Amino acid sequence: ARSDLAASLRSLDGASYGRYKSLSGSWSVGGVTLEVLRVQADPFAPPSRVRLTVSDAGLPADLHATADRRRALAGFLLRGLRRALRGTPVHVDAGGPEVLDRSAGTVDADGVVTVEVGVPFPGPKRRILGREAATLLGETLPAAAREALCWASVDQDAARTFVETVEDAVALRAALAGRGLVAFVADGAVLPRRSGVDDRPLDGATPFGGPSSLQVTLTAPNAGEVSGLGVPEGVTLIVGGGYHGKSTLLRALEAGVYDHVPGDGREQVVTRPDAVKLRAEDGRAVIHLDVSAFVAHLPSGEPTDDFSTTNASGSTSQAASTVEAVEAGADVLLIDEDTSATNMMIRDARMQQLIATEPLVPFVERVRPLHAEHGVSTVLVMGGSGDYLGVADTVIMMDAYRASDVTARAHEIAAAGPARTVEHTGFPKVTPRVVDPGSLDPTARGKRRVTARGRDTLTFGEDDIDLSAVEQITDRSQVAGIGRALALLGDGVLDGTITLAEGLDLLDAELDRQGLGALLDGRPGDSADIARPRRHEVAAALNRLRSMRLRRT
Ligand code: ADP
Ligand code: MG
Repeated sequence: ARSDLAASLRSLDGASYGRYKSLSGSWSVGGVTLEVLRVQADPFAPPSRVRLTVSDAGLPADLHATADRRRALAGFLLRGLRRALRGTPVHVDAGGPEVLDRSAGTVDADGVVTVEVGVPFPGPKRRILGREAATLLGETLPAAAREALCWASVDQDAARTFVETVEDAVALRAALAGRGLVAFVADGAVLPRRSGVDDRPLDGATPFGGPSSLQVTLTAPNAGEVSGLGVPEGVTLIVGGGYHGKSTLLRALEAGVYDHVPGDGREQVVTRPDAVKLRAEDGRAVIHLDVSAFVAHLPSGEPTDDFSTTNASGSTSQAASTVEAVEAGADVLLIDEDTSATNMMIRDARMQQLIATEPLVPFVERVRPLHAEHGVSTVLVMGGSGDYLGVADTVIMMDAYRASDVTARAHEIAAAGPARTVEHTGFPKVTPRVVDPGSLDPTARGKRRVTARGRDTLTFGEDDIDLSAVEQITDRSQVAGIGRALALLGDGVLDGTITLAEGLDLLDAELDRQGLGALLDGRPGDSADIARPRRHEVAAALNRLRSMRLRRT
């Protein structure tokens, strides 16, 4: 590694912007190794990418002894680095309240800390601003790195709490299946957020409290015994008056597939890792999908076990998303009436009398067999229709943000009628799809394009995939991870014979084995901020990729 970074930059002062390329490579500066991975082509391009490695951070060995601890410790350090660099133009992809594996920061088994940041190299007039660059890269950045990443200077108690909090969430989540639960909400958790665009906990919120009949106690390695609401497997309804906290509880369960930072309020709200939020999304594409479980016939006479559309209705989009989630291995479905298609969810006794030839099979008829025959549980927010009272195993009522158990009363009311006629029984097996790997080629006009355009859109080759209705995606970096996972599925995982579910199993195995490295190409200059996606969001993106094709089997 060269050691004269600041001097080199000062000597480049006034040179043409492209000369920044001469910085590529490795430097030793201020006690860290600084590598210039990619230099932006001009001052207006996305920032240059710089990697900093601290090999003598002095982190206690126990804090990086397991993969979960390393992920948590890296998350803690990255957040500290973002704080240390506030007010500078450096971008640190530390993430929001979820603690994900991120390419922006890792701690390895030996305690070596590596971070990657975006640095806009200064040069507004396409001339190198050498002195400014020398200060930024030669002083500010390495000093911030040492301050934020070395054990001697971090808040050690906070670091330990962060790691232990994440480890506890992992353990609580892992305990769910063995206890027959799909989710757990600790007493005292703070579920509401400040607003739809502000993920921080709502100030002055009523802490969560649940009924004794559903109370369970789980053991976390660091916090010890934790009590709270256990949401059982099967069919669970969340009922209650409008504005009493039903959707807020469901959103906390959606987020419970991820670990949360201390202070978030949802640190001990955990959901099974394969829980998937479903919603209506009219206008989306559906590609050769067996929707016969929910669409008995179509007015056009098209087959419903091989259904395609470029423009689904609310109900068919939700039917499709449900089938796709099951195909990808979901074992818990999370559904809110606020974002559901009514005719997909309910069909009451009076409407059954009036309309004899309804093509849609309402979810109320499939929800029990889905669990009994396929082991897929459902948690459903439903304040507007009583049709589900009779099919629910558990009915949780939200009243002024507190949960109570009204299962017995709900069953009494359901038994007293009026009853709807059951028109369909069972849940048919869904025909698995074999995706053509050739249709997952992100090369557009000879150029490989996999670009996250923010939280809601992924550009993949010629396609823009709309992810706005895929609600459990956390941020843009996860979208970038999804894009690379799609590319990997198409180039090396799917082979035109295995099913999509088998491909997702292989993808997960690869990510477990290699970490995010499986999604990075290893080519210098091809690095980017990515966060690990779940298989379900990868599948959701694939299902919305309009150019996706199937292999005929
Ligand atoms: P519902 O789905 O039952 O109509 P929501 O979950 O949308 O109700 O909640 C309604 C409002 O109450 C939201 O503004 C939400 O932020 C707020 N809220 C939810 N839970 C709490 C709580 N525990 N403490 C304070 N406010 C809450
Ligand atoms: Mg609601």
